[in-house]
Amino acid sequence: MSNALHPFMTTGPDGRTLVPGGSVYRPPSEHDSLLLQVSVGCSHNKCSYCAMYLGKRFAIRPQAEIDGLLARYATQPPAPSGRVFLCDGDALILPQRRLVPVLEGIRKHLPWVRRVCTYGDTRSVLRKSVDELRQLRELGLGMVYHGVETGDEQSLAAITKGATRAEVVETAARLKAAGIAHSVILLLGIAGVEGSERHARETASLLTAIDPPFAGALTVTPVPGTPLHDAFERGAFTLPDKFGLLTELRTLIAESTLTRCRFSSNHASNYLPLRGELPRDQERMVAALDEVIRRRDERVLKPEWLRGL
Ligand code: SF4
Repeated sequence: MSNALHPFMTTGPDGRTLVPGGSVYRPPSEHDSLLLQVSVGCSHNKCSYCAMYLGKRFAIRPQAEIDGLLARYATQPPAPSGRVFLCDGDALILPQRRLVPVLEGIRKHLPWVRRVCTYGDTRSVLRKSVDELRQLRELGLGMVYHGVETGDEQSLAAITKGATRAEVVETAARLKAAGIAHSVILLLGIAGVEGSERHARETASLLTAIDPPFAGALTVTPVPGTPLHDAFERGAFTLPDKFGLLTELRTLIAESTLTRCRFSSNHASNYLPLRGELPRDQERMVAALDEVIRRRDERVLKPEWLRGL
């Protein structure tokens, strides 16, 4: 799934958040989806920048509890988006025999659901065959949000992502073969100043290799309690400055060759929100970034107090 910088916490006042006394993270585009918590935490929980589930032990909710929640939600109005998002950060890691009844339960209790979405990654996708993924697709799973973060092999190892480039490529291929949309999340700044250019170039080349239909860039922030923050504090990790981060974004957009990808840097953590379809808007987006980088005028960037980290 994704990373510590998703500040999309929903704590349940809408009556549709299925989190017992905790916070749940979801992508911004799932803001009006029904959140169904089928698991708690992340089974990996080792990424060096991630504080989302620190101290939370991974657990799968019993099917009886999920059925009870679905029966309760069946009495409530449909989510405006027509979508359900499976939480927590690692719901796709559930074995097939556990995911199938969850999706069947959604079909049975919530006939208004048009699409089920979840976080997933190399670990959760690659333990399923294309046929199994197809079965999930047929039962409603339409989109997997995947925190790829970087295409740089060295950085993947440094952040303990638990994935290699080759595994990311295979993950994308399996999702594509199964007909499940792949939305990848990339992390500006994750290689620090030292690896900045390499990270941007390698990530653009990975994007080209996997050719996803959706991609979004976030900006890393060292969060207390994480190994990245420890490295930051002792001077072993230096975050690129604002224009260094925008240079990474420029490289990502300029050097990737995509068929048709909705790309955005609209996440609250970013200094410059951009949105467009690649390759159609590639020239416009690169020109906008070139202009901002050339002028180095901080007034056009999002002020720190407006950044959600
Ligand atoms: S996979 Fe990594 S980034 Fe995603 S929730 Fe787990 S530890 Fe955090």
